[in-house]
Amino acid sequence: MIDTTPTWVWLLTACVGAVAGSFIGMVAHRLPMLMMRQWRADVAEFLSQMPLDGTLITPISTALTTDNPPPTAIHCPHCRAPLAIYDAIPIISYLWLQGKCRQCRHAISPQYLAIESISIVLTLMVVAVLGAGIHAVLALIFVWIGIALSAIDYQTKLLPDRLVLPLGMIGLVANSMGLFASASHAIFGAVAGFVLLWLINALYRLITNQDGMGLGDAKLLAAIGAWLGVWQLPMVLLIASTLGVVVGLHKRWRLGQNAAFAFGPCLVAAAIVSLLFGERLLAWLFSY
Ligand SMILES: [Zn+2]
Repeated sequence: MIDTTPTWVWLLTACVGAVAGSFIGMVAHRLPMLMMRQWRADVAEFLSQMPLDGTLITPISTALTTDNPPPTAIHCPHCRAPLAIYDAIPIISYLWLQGKCRQCRHAISPQYLAIESISIVLTLMVVAVLGAGIHAVLALIFVWIGIALSAIDYQTKLLPDRLVLPLGMIGLVANSMGLFASASHAIFGAVAGFVLLWLINALYRLITNQDGMGLGDAKLLAAIGAWLGVWQLPMVLLIASTLGVVVGLHKRWRLGQNAAFAFGPCLVAAAIVSLLFGERLLAWLFSY
């Protein structure tokens, strides 16, 4: 089959991916800081209601008042100088400024460049595999939220409910119309995703007396199950744990120890593979 899609469509798709990547970078940078502020506020409020002597309350409330507001995406994260429009163009600005802030010359995290590049590649892939239509639009939402979750998990080892829950909801709504799986498979997928990882973690805790995975991973697999349906979950888990073993061995080889690593990006990568190629992979497997 010859691809007759005009070049401008691919260029436009790449631009959409770049802009989305730029926004994802901002979310991945800001959301953990906002969560931290919320936790501090909650803890301070909780402690202020308890009859304690001031010693414990003071450092936290001081930390609260001296806490600077998180910088916005249009500011340099280091010197907080506002960025001009031409300094905020995805990828191009980063390369043009050689990864440094124009004002303070402080290095800008290469994470922004990585997120934008991954977003462009995956956005192009989704449109190439699924074509233009409702499936591609929804798959892009899945991919973009997935990239944000991966970046946050990689940095902080957290998978915020604020992203995981909407992700699962969108999957259930999409599959109420049977877009990626039947409605019943999606519901079973959500439940099975959570229970599976919860069980694995409980078993691991029983054997080793420490947490292997957080509940965040279980919630994420529940959201993935809501998108892909229950029958794709074994494949997602297989691909994710293979990736996890590779990452774990690499970390061990590089750091010479059993270092903890984020499993969220492995789950997201496996889910994207299943979302785009799952049916073909399953058909290929069952042809043997
Ligand atoms: Zn700066």
